[in-house]
Amino acid sequence: MKEVRTRFAPSPTGLLHIGNARTAIMNWLFSRHSGGKFILRIEDTDLERSSKESEAAILNDLRWLGLDWDEGTEVGGDYGPYRQSERRGRYNQVAQSLLESGKAYHCYCTAEELEDARTRRREAGENVQYDGRCRHLTDADRMSLESQGREPVVRFKVDVESVAFKDLIRKKVSFPGDTLGDFVLMRQNGMPMYNFCCVIDDHDMAITHVIRGDDHVSNTPRQVLIYQAMDWDVPVFAHTPMILGPDKQRLSKRHGATSVSQYKEDGFLSHALVNFLSLLSWSSASGDELLDREQLIKEFDFARVSKSAAVFDTEKLLWMNGQYIRNLSPEDFAGAIRPFLIRADLNLSDEQIKIIVPLFREKVERLAEIGDKVSVLFQEHAVPENDEAAAVIKAESARIVFQTFLDETGSLAEWQVEDFKATMKAVQKISGVKGKGLWMPVRVALTGQEHGPDLGATAVFFGLEKCRRLMKEALE
Ligand code: GLU
Repeated sequence: MKEVRTRFAPSPTGLLHIGNARTAIMNWLFSRHSGGKFILRIEDTDLERSSKESEAAILNDLRWLGLDWDEGTEVGGDYGPYRQSERRGRYNQVAQSLLESGKAYHCYCTAEELEDARTRRREAGENVQYDGRCRHLTDADRMSLESQGREPVVRFKVDVESVAFKDLIRKKVSFPGDTLGDFVLMRQNGMPMYNFCCVIDDHDMAITHVIRGDDHVSNTPRQVLIYQAMDWDVPVFAHTPMILGPDKQRLSKRHGATSVSQYKEDGFLSHALVNFLSLLSWSSASGDELLDREQLIKEFDFARVSKSAAVFDTEKLLWMNGQYIRNLSPEDFAGAIRPFLIRADLNLSDEQIKIIVPLFREKVERLAEIGDKVSVLFQEHAVPENDEAAAVIKAESARIVFQTFLDETGSLAEWQVEDFKATMKAVQKISGVKGKGLWMPVRVALTGQEHGPDLGATAVFFGLEKCRRLMKEALE
């Protein structure tokens, strides 16, 4: 058996999209599951849209996701270079060989001529594909066109009834040859087209499995024809179903964050995101939903990848992220929230962070929520967050609670959790108010909110003096 070699081949024209991250994850999982290699190739032949910044950002996000590559940009390998802009000589060489074998030809048609011909064919109810008129040019025709200053593209000659390929998800796929048309391999400016350089690279890099989004399905028959024309082994394909928003439309910005970096900013943990994205169109045979990396690698299997589109369920992602957050050790949680606290202008000492960790570990689904939650501990006054909270502290029984609380704590100097608990017990006994009627007004008086961190811990964090002041303010 040949060693499995998969690749992720992003175009550095923007941020790493969540759909592409899912493709990368599937490539990574399959190679790791098979004991093979995972390769990273940069497809930057679109010089205008590609940028170094975007390449760096994509690499950064892949690293953050924990998808390590065995070969590719930055790590090197025996099959490089791994950046398409550095492989142009090789593309020219293959184009030349296809021209020489008569499987490709120079086409001099201008954009206007092609458009006119398309319109005519469309109006006549014919196939709109290029009609192959430049296939039959003589040397003299070519010389004459070139003397007019025309520069040719290189087109592939499609001469087949149909093209079929094996797909691990869709099983057998086939396309009729007459829907493909003689397609362009090299542009006038000498830059290769995606379909062309992709095949050359996948061949040269000994890729055995091409796993990519199903928006590429219609490219694959053209690519297969190039493999066949070069007499190269055709890899196995797997086209992953698309990801839809809750409204069953293709996932897009209107559904919320679509880039990996945005999820990172919003406080999702990379392990949670990888787990969640792995479960789009795939399920584990064990039925488990929370799967760590080892389990994902062990259980990944194309036989369990579904053909149908997956719906991106944000609620489920939030739930999953919350689970991963709760599973962090206190030290890891402290490390994870630190940048988010700084972002919220809360420059806490290590000691302070240590205190707040147990208060909030169970309370956030996204790390970015931490700033808002923790700021409660640092506000001077506890303004009720809404009318409901305001009503809670205005109730007559609440006023009795506050007054009793102040009476009971008048002679205390400072307190610990036990003192707070004892005070609450005493207030209950004296005022006759208990349960929610007792605790909720105290919570709102101290924090302005009806929900929040453990009240005893909060009271100790504030210290007695601040608690008494807030209680007086609530009374007023
Ligand atoms: N650069 C292509 C893309 O980002 C790669 C497609 C492929 O995997 O072949 O869509």
